[in-house]
Amino acid sequence: MYNLDSTKLLKNLMKDYFTDFQHAKKIAWCTSVGPAELLRAFGFQVYFPENHGALLGATRMAGDYIPSTINLGYSGDVCSYLTSDIGAYLNKQTPLLQHYGLAGIPKPDLIVYNTNQCREVQEWFNYYATEFKCPVIGIFPPRHIDEITKAEIQVVSEQFKAMIPVCEQISGNKFDLDLFKSTLGLSKQAATLWKDVLATAKNSPSPLSFFDATIHMGPIVVLRGTVSANHYYQNLLNELNENVRNKRSMVKEENSRIFWDGMPIWGKLRTLSDLFIQNNSSVVASTYCNSWVFDSFDENDPFTSSAKAYTEIFINRSEGAKMRILKEMVDEFRIDGILFHDAKTCFNNSNSRFGLPLRFYKEFGIPVLVIEGDLCDLRFYSEGQSTTKIETFIEQLEMHKVMN
Ligand code: SF4
Repeated sequence: MYNLDSTKLLKNLMKDYFTDFQHAKKIAWCTSVGPAELLRAFGFQVYFPENHGALLGATRMAGDYIPSTINLGYSGDVCSYLTSDIGAYLNKQTPLLQHYGLAGIPKPDLIVYNTNQCREVQEWFNYYATEFKCPVIGIFPPRHIDEITKAEIQVVSEQFKAMIPVCEQISGNKFDLDLFKSTLGLSKQAATLWKDVLATAKNSPSPLSFFDATIHMGPIVVLRGTVSANHYYQNLLNELNENVRNKRSMVKEENSRIFWDGMPIWGKLRTLSDLFIQNNSSVVASTYCNSWVFDSFDENDPFTSSAKAYTEIFINRSEGAKMRILKEMVDEFRIDGILFHDAKTCFNNSNSRFGLPLRFYKEFGIPVLVIEGDLCDLRFYSEGQSTTKIETFIEQLEMHKVMN
């Protein structure tokens, strides 16, 4: 059985991250691709509700709480991070208790969201701003862009700067440009290490699967901009490189290499991982894990570069730009086929709804598969149907390789 030793370090790091909230002076909530570095530069400890949503999905607690949010008037078709997270809050429950001994989620002094990923985060965070009677700041970048212009970056950069007086008032600390620069520098290092970690999967056999990467991405989401995240990823990278040298991998024989597009199905990570391993197939790359690779960060130009980095993320791009990015990744990772996860409650990160898979297949000849499911709400996922589709797809990929 293939296991990564770094997982033990990861557990300790995440435990420390959560238990540290008990001693926090000021806490800011932030979206997963929000301006975390700027918040850290003011001394806020930063909490990410999406991470909590993913935990609710992975522990399969989400289904218990979604109905409470629906009873509040929210549709069961909107983001199941939102519905499970608010539902858990309404029921005064959290997996943080069992995993890290926290009685509840950390209470916010400031809430910040960035709609670069979706409108849902705005509704979700505004709910809590009302609940906690807490100040809330929104960043609203242009959406679904093809090539990004200077004018667009300027708009977002000004919105970042407009956060400063609010952050100063709530944190009690004056803005320190040097601290912002050094925090962004740390974040850039973390993002580069994370990119290198993901790039180890370019090797065959791959030492890292998409399913493992969704677990090891915890620190790049919640701890980027800290030294501890960088230490962690250096350690993980060393281990993966060692495994490449020793040809250690999750599959004995790698007969096909697959790209996962869209959200993970958090409650089925283990089952899906086993399914691909049993079929000698490696899921080696994804748009999802790649979302925390920020090539544009530049500590010498912190406002412009972080505005650019957080605006050019894959989810915020046009269909044409997505086609180009996908093609680059397919070539780099030597992908045999793409699996598109059509997540029922996240159309924002489901790329199969406007014909992209078929266009991709026609233009580049790479086989594609669409499976229906969801990030947290397992009522939208049919295990039997999906297993059959995936096994058939893997057989087709192997035949496709033989014929080509
Ligand atoms: S991108 Fe999708 S999963 Fe993430 S917060 Fe928005 S709707 Fe939810």
